Amino acid sequence: MYMSRDGVSVIRKDRSQVLLAPAGTIRVLVVLVRYPETVTADALGFWEDAQKQINEDHMAFAKSRGYKAPVVTFDNTNIVIDPDQIDNPHSPASVRMAAEHHGLTSANYQIVMVIDINPRESAGGLSINSEKSVYVGNYSHWKTPLGAREWKMIARTAYHHEVAHHWGWPATHDWAGACGGGSPEYAPFIAPPILFGWEDLQGKQVPEILSETPYGRVVQ
Ligand SMILES: [Zn+2]
Repeated sequence: MYMSRDGVSVIRKDRSQVLLAPAGTIRVLVVLVRYPETVTADALGFWEDAQKQINEDHMAFAKSRGYKAPVVTFDNTNIVIDPDQIDNPHSPASVRMAAEHHGLTSANYQIVMVIDINPRESAGGLSINSEKSVYVGNYSHWKTPLGAREWKMIARTAYHHEVAHHWGWPATHDWAGACGGGSPEYAPFIAPPILFGWEDLQGKQVPEILSETPYGRVVQ
């Protein structure tokens, strides 16, 4: 679906292959690459708090719509590795191999994510649907230890932006008009929740994606 700039009306509809439904519990394996300049000893604690915040964002949204439970919950498994334990963080196969070396079977996860805040390399985020992969690089050119605020930014990029591409948000970001940054109307989310079926369109306190009688379908 393509939304008008204000995110209110649908101006175009398309079908695309979506491998991951934007509902339920989503198991995520996170490989965090440790660079001494940016990723300090307390980084994992900050990161776990930031992940908690993402689930709380989904809980707050559900509560605001009168739902009994969040539409989406992330079940995260984190491992921290040194750069020499991974061949190439940009390669999903390398990320999976590094996880396997830590005894984790990447096939048990719906998303395999790498957080690669390399102080010597600026890079954005990238999702590859066929690889179930999310890469988040050093998009803010950080060169000093990341604190709680920065880890929250990174989590927001990873879960509210990059994972949204696995739910069908096109890489062109043209569903929502606003290019990737989102708009205050649906903050803290980055893409409009209505696009994932998270809104209650029928006043039943049930999100559309979980509705047994989806809006627009003729029930006989
Ligand atoms: Zn994107």
